[in-house]
Amino acid sequence: MEKRVFGNTGVKVPVIGQGTWQMESDDAEGAIRSLRAGLDLGLTHLDTAELYGQGRVEEALVSKAIAGRRDEVFLVSKVMPSNATRSGTVAACERSLKRLRTDRLDCYLLHWPGSHPLEGTVEAFEQLVTDGKIRSWGVSNFAVDELEEVLAIAGPKRIACNQVLYHLEERAIEHTVIPWCEAEGVAVVAYSPFGNGRFPKPSSTGGKVLASIAQARGVTPYQVALQFLVRGTSMFAIPKASDESHMRDNAKAASLKLTPEELRRIDAAFPRGDEPDELPSI
Ligand code: NAP
Repeated sequence: MEKRVFGNTGVKVPVIGQGTWQMESDDAEGAIRSLRAGLDLGLTHLDTAELYGQGRVEEALVSKAIAGRRDEVFLVSKVMPSNATRSGTVAACERSLKRLRTDRLDCYLLHWPGSHPLEGTVEAFEQLVTDGKIRSWGVSNFAVDELEEVLAIAGPKRIACNQVLYHLEERAIEHTVIPWCEAEGVAVVAYSPFGNGRFPKPSSTGGKVLASIAQARGVTPYQVALQFLVRGTSMFAIPKASDESHMRDNAKAASLKLTPEELRRIDAAFPRGDEPDELPSI
């Protein structure tokens, strides 16, 4: 499994990880089996949040998937903006640790920009680092002006990552978010890399290009899409797969190397369009 240094953390993290949103609606045994199979295959970047299933994903699924193998995992969770005061962030983190049955997170994110002052959230994150409860912290769904604000508060090399919506039909972050993150050494984590299940249809123009590349390379269109998304040096992706065969498919995407011509064909088939006024989120 290909790994890259995750932002300014100095820690190497697999380029393909695992998401867990909406897993509470899937068969629990199957989802846990899939997560553990993913860990076996090196998909050790595991993304969750207090929001997911109102804590049930952390408590009933992720905690079981990582039981007995915590040290293998780069475990990420997120605080809800409504909890992100100084004391609320610390309390939310402690609740997540309890549900996950662990003593630390590898990275803790503010789920999206909210109304509580960022100074308090950043202070809480730094306190949690000092206390050994988190190893690093980052943000999610932050546009460049919001990233600038965090940078001004926290100083350089503190924001580990920005987790943002990125898939073939939603490439808005390529305009300014990715360049900003690359310049500041912030990892970019692509969430909903398959459009939250709305993958390009095989009959569409883009779908046909993916299928033709996939067929020529003996892989699946999903693997081609994932590899396109992590082609940049600061990029990671966290597909969600409760189906173990999907998980195995995704793991193989890391070893696929697309040629410049294949990248050009995908780029042309899924034009990124103009930069929108607001950062898209799901
Ligand atoms: P996604 O990963 O884009 O798509 C998941 C869907 O694709 C599921 O239906 C899954 O099916 C299917 N799938 C996965 N691998 C496949 C494969 N190889 N072949 C065919 N189908 C495949 O959706 P997502 O859950 O929205 O995004 C991924 C993760 O990003 C989330 O789980 C979450 O951790 C994170 N996220 C973060 C935010 C944020 O605001 N920070 C927002 C959204 C998501 P099965 O499950 O049946 O295998």
